[in-house]
Amino acid sequence: MSKIKVKTPLVEMDGDEMTRVIWKEIKDKFIHPYLDIQLEYYDLGVEYRDKTDDKVTVDSANAIVKHGVGVKCATITPNADRVKEYSLKKEWPSPNGTIRSILDGTVFRKPIIINNIPAAVKSWKKPIIIGRHAYGDIYRNVEMIIPGAGKAEIVFTPAGGGAESRITIHEYKGPGVVMGMHNLDKSIESFARSCFNYAISEKVPLWFATKDTISKKYHARFRTIFDEVAKEKEPELKATGNYYAYYLIDDAVAQIMKNEGGMLWALMNYDGDVQSDMVASGFGSLGLMTSVLVSPDGKYEYEAAHGTVTRHFRQHQKGESTSTNSVASIFAWTGALHKRGELDGNTELMKFAEKLEDAVIKTIESGEMTKDLMSLSTAPSKKQLDTIPFMEAVQKRLNS
Ligand code: NAP
Ligand code: MG
Repeated sequence: MSKIKVKTPLVEMDGDEMTRVIWKEIKDKFIHPYLDIQLEYYDLGVEYRDKTDDKVTVDSANAIVKHGVGVKCATITPNADRVKEYSLKKEWPSPNGTIRSILDGTVFRKPIIINNIPAAVKSWKKPIIIGRHAYGDIYRNVEMIIPGAGKAEIVFTPAGGGAESRITIHEYKGPGVVMGMHNLDKSIESFARSCFNYAISEKVPLWFATKDTISKKYHARFRTIFDEVAKEKEPELKATGNYYAYYLIDDAVAQIMKNEGGMLWALMNYDGDVQSDMVASGFGSLGLMTSVLVSPDGKYEYEAAHGTVTRHFRQHQKGESTSTNSVASIFAWTGALHKRGELDGNTELMKFAEKLEDAVIKTIESGEMTKDLMSLSTAPSKKQLDTIPFMEAVQKRLNS
């Protein structure tokens, strides 16, 4: 059988612990036997990041800027314990944070839908993709405890001189609290562009929700900027048979619970934080949640939403076998390969990615799955498989 030729390099970022073990198996079982592909390899395992003073992370992000598509394994974000465990020079920053800031990107989380793993919400039949703005608001706030009576104000002093503007927040008669938040037009616009790009790429409608009836300047600014980007991008979205719609956040939440899904739901930072966890648990397991970082100018990095599954790795280190779910990691690869295929006009590659996804889904639907899915699946007969045997079952199906 001849391998499918891929003409553009794919940026590959290796990672840590259990997901690193799975990563190698994915390449050996599903990539190398079928594809003639140049993988531009970056080792983001914590030891090599430490060795290169984290330069490898920056290099890998720049490689995505250059080639357009990357696939990333989960990585350790070191804390004090990890510094000791791996004798690191310091607590290196989160690779995902570094890559996100270089790409100026937005992270979208998308659940993998499997027929006999029903969502907690009965109406949900298609993935609800969440896009969370990842800058500002309460995550960059300043706040103050107000000890007693007095006045709190917002003051803006123009950099080039000129008149100050000030408004009173509250005239306190007794103790209380106060908070100051900010956001930036540039960041909101990048977010809006990434959302339109991804909705166009996924061929789904784009919903955006804020509370602009109450916050007539702050939240309203988000809506205005989305409307401006929509003027440019909406025709492209409409060409895919989809639409852009603005909702009040409470209306959107109510609609989501009655909807079958299948949209990209863009949210401000705090709403995205809360709703992404709600939607993820509604769809079942972390092992079925994928994640993609999309830049405003259309660069893509695919990964699993979960971490390096340390608890399972400890068992693996002791020589015990584990039943770790490889599905989100496999879908990171298929997502990246499919996108590479789209960009290169390589339909054979796109078809391969779809066939591999189909083999994974059919394997689980036929009753073979890892431990995390056993209690969720309604398959009439179920068999729990360990990490590697599950992947072998998928490979068998792919070959048949
Ligand atoms: P985690 O790796 O996501 O695992 C948390 C728990 O969720 C696991 O112990 C396991 O539960 C379950 N789980 C997650 N993925 C699973 C899978 N594929 N198959 C089966 N079960 C799965 O989160 P963590 O333990 O908090 O973090 C571990 C390391 O990952 C940390 O060093 C953190 O820095 C890193 N991390 C990286 C990323 C990233 O690179 N994107 C994201 C998050 C965390 P049971 O133990 O109950 O089976
Ligand atoms: Mg959260």
